Amino acid sequence: MNTPRAITIDGPAGSGKSTLGASLAAALGFVYFDTGVMYRALTLAVLDADIDPSDGTAVAACAERIDIGVQPPTVADGRQYTITLDGRDVTWDIREQRVERAVSTAAGHPAVRVILRAQQRAIGMRGNVVMVGRDIGSIVLPEAPLKIYLDVSIAERTRRRSAELVGRGDSVDEHALYDSIANRDARDAHVMQPAPDAVHINGDTQSPADTLAYVLSLVPAGMRSHP
Ligand code: C5P
Repeated sequence: MNTPRAITIDGPAGSGKSTLGASLAAALGFVYFDTGVMYRALTLAVLDADIDPSDGTAVAACAERIDIGVQPPTVADGRQYTITLDGRDVTWDIREQRVERAVSTAAGHPAVRVILRAQQRAIGMRGNVVMVGRDIGSIVLPEAPLKIYLDVSIAERTRRRSAELVGRGDSVDEHALYDSIANRDARDAHVMQPAPDAVHINGDTQSPADTLAYVLSLVPAGMRSHP
């Protein structure tokens, strides 16, 4: 079996997997690829076309039709990458609440996942990539030499998100925040598939910097030098 130079990171929303993935990719000189943006871009296309996100056949047909692009940032506005949908810059649109609410439903259809996973796998098999999502180590790139499952309790994710909002000067209802994180986990439960051979990391007990250092210590020597 062809072994790609790929590291997979799966975990729930708000676990810090994007931060870990981006910093790990930067440290190794790899591409950082967040598969969540593909499901978000598809959901945006579905909503814009007035398709019902629970109609699996229509959502899958939409997934076949659209062209999702992920490129290095084209605008210096704090983005980690630029996402395009049929050539249109949708980097910020895919973060809208209407997308947030519908994405788990649109992403959950098996026929939709077959289409997007094939695109993700093609990118992963090119190698030199850190790929982040919910099912990357188990289904998209099971041959990856290093797989991480990053979990953080709902209580700790609530605390971190609350601190972030307070830092921005927003008021916070911690109970509502806790419930919204728990609801998101419940909505995503059907797509979450950790790999049986993933290294499980509990992000409650270590800082993002310690987590990065630990994961770097797990990277096989052969993956550190480019071919
Ligand atoms: O990671 P992020 O929260 O941006 O992902 C958005 C949504 O896309 C998730 O809530 C999940 O429903 C879906 N997703 C998925 N499989 C992945 C990545 C994301 O179903 N590999």
